[in-house]
Amino acid sequence: MIKQFIDKLMGKAPKSNKPHFGRRTEVPASVHGIDPNLVDDRAINVTRTLQQAGFEAYIVGGAVRDLLLGLRPKDFDVATDATPEQVKGLFRRAFIIGRRFRIVHVVYGRGRDNEVIEVSTFRAHLDNAAAEQVKGNERTSKRQLEGMHHAVDSSGRVLRDNVWGPQDEDATRRDFTVNAMYYDPESQIVVDYHGGIPDAKKRVLRMIGDPVARYREDPVRIIRAVRFAAKLSPLGFKLEAKTAKPLTQSATLLADVPQSRLFDEMLKLLQTGHALASIAQLKKLGLATGIYPLLDVVVERAESAFVQVALADTDRRVGEGKPVAPSFLLACVLWADVREGWAKRLARKEHPYPALQDAIDEVFDARIGDVSGRGKLAADMREIWMMQPRFEKRVGSTPFGLVEQPRFRAGFDFLRLRTDIEEVDVRLADWWQEFSMASDSEREDLVQAAKAEQQASQVGKPRVRRAPRPEGAAAPRSSAGQSEVSPAAASPDAGDDGAPKKRRRRRRKPGAAVDQAGESGSAE
Ligand code: ATP
Ligand code: MG
Repeated sequence: MIKQFIDKLMGKAPKSNKPHFGRRTEVPASVHGIDPNLVDDRAINVTRTLQQAGFEAYIVGGAVRDLLLGLRPKDFDVATDATPEQVKGLFRRAFIIGRRFRIVHVVYGRGRDNEVIEVSTFRAHLDNAAAEQVKGNERTSKRQLEGMHHAVDSSGRVLRDNVWGPQDEDATRRDFTVNAMYYDPESQIVVDYHGGIPDAKKRVLRMIGDPVARYREDPVRIIRAVRFAAKLSPLGFKLEAKTAKPLTQSATLLADVPQSRLFDEMLKLLQTGHALASIAQLKKLGLATGIYPLLDVVVERAESAFVQVALADTDRRVGEGKPVAPSFLLACVLWADVREGWAKRLARKEHPYPALQDAIDEVFDARIGDVSGRGKLAADMREIWMMQPRFEKRVGSTPFGLVEQPRFRAGFDFLRLRTDIEEVDVRLADWWQEFSMASDSEREDLVQAAKAEQQASQVGKPRVRRAPRPEGAAAPRSSAGQSEVSPAAASPDAGDDGAPKKRRRRRRKPGAAVDQAGESGSAE
């Protein structure tokens, strides 16, 4: 009764139109068992600062889910009843970001070690009816109006989502029950409205509310369902049947989602350590095609040896806490096209470098054309590809110039992956590894050695031009040396004793990791 009266005062929709907001349950540490040592100090600092200023503040979302599962969260989000401006005022380095979804980034540390805590204000849950009510009600509070940039389109899709509201509504507008819990590091209490804790125990991924409507509101939740199913399947999680069932039929809704958001979600599927598992889930859930054109290509190529090692390598790197770059992975995914276009041009007797340039242009037009504003991504991919034939020149000044290039490491890592599928002789990659770490005089020696090796191997060999053979073409995979300038053509395939090639363990120079280009866009 009183709640109804307050709701009326707040200008909320009448109860009958409201979704079920769940009952607030406060779960103590003795029940949820979260290890406080897994909680980041900076997240604690943020919640404490907000609480001391008189606001509510909790760690929220995926971090609580991971803590509950005994995992160390990779990032921490905080939810509060303070507005973005109020949050910003409490921290020295805080920035309001986002238009669709205004949040505050509180920044700690500098450079590579910096840590961002995302702070979002509790949002109101607004379906169509509720949105109309709020807009039309003269008594809509000033506080609500302050965040009133909300819009829902005719199909029920939420376009903007900046209406502040109470915590129970904030919980209801989140996606999965296990993603909608709040943890107060001070009292160590978990606030749960939707049975997230029992679902976590049962290993169920359950969409809050009616899944069909929730996918309609924001079709990106379809991709998120795949991602969490992949991430949590090793822990035994399964999508609840009601949550999984409408996924395929809802996929057509993705056509209305901006391409840039789909691109970002694709990168989250592929670059958060569960790429192979995500692809398996896409197939299992009947979503192998139709989410996003470039993702279709990835899923299809995940069968090919090169893309498979690239995805596995990305998962491994993320697992080891190393940075990953979207340009690198996409360069791997589209390499087959580049090689094919290059081979075609070489067969027409075009010069190798311009031929490669043209092949790359063609691939960008065909595959990446629809993602605008990603100049740096494309430039980095191009550089990785253009470096490949240069690795095969180990004489003169070429190696000295190449090793100084800012993207050398990415190009080298790419070369390394090519050796994994025996497209390039492993000894070439080993040579570059050594060269990149050597002193100037050692480098001279290495160049001399390469020269001698090349001369020796050329004795008696006719000087023929050979074009790179497209993947899957006649030659068996194990025959290296598919390119005219390929060192593998110059250096013997098997060891001196004729024994089969051994794959060497990687020796990566510590700290010389692929540079994270930071193309992955904003998370909601
Ligand atoms: P990860 O571990 O991958 O970061 P996460 O659950 O933290 O997973 P984020 O994308 O960081 O995912 O989002 C943080 C939280 O915001 C989610 O846990 C969820 O509560 C909410 N959220 C994010 N995107 C959506 C969405 N599209 N619809 C509803 N809620 C969302
Ligand atoms: Mg997160």
